[in-house]
Amino acid sequence: MPVKTYSKTKLKQFKKSIEAKLNNVVGEMNDLKENLDTNTSGNSSMSQDGVYSVHMADAGTDSYEREKGFHFMNRESDYYKYLTKALGRIADGSFGICTICDELIPEERMIEVPNATKCVLCKENDKLNI
Ligand SMILES: [Zn+2]
Repeated sequence: MPVKTYSKTKLKQFKKSIEAKLNNVVGEMNDLKENLDTNTSGNSSMSQDGVYSVHMADAGTDSYEREKGFHFMNRESDYYKYLTKALGRIADGSFGICTICDELIPEERMIEVPNATKCVLCKENDKLNI
């Protein structure tokens, strides 16, 4: 059992800030999804009208935009998973505790990186070991 933990009040604050971030991510993902849907239906109607009228450059830009959209989607959903994991750590009481030295990870770091499982010192040591 770790000796130190964050107080329940602090954990509630962390939870609130993580949940706010989650809401943002969900909102952004919905926006991206809408954009992707519009782009996709736009492309299919274009090809029905006649492929010959579509300039190569335009088609290239469209697929580039879509790829970019998918890329953002992946990034957002990764972030979403991170935040969900952080919430899980709050629930099981391991949030903010370094998995290596059992010390409390500083609050500023947990706000910046809510899914951090190591303190800066242990993270640096880890890098040196590799
Ligand atoms: Zn540590």
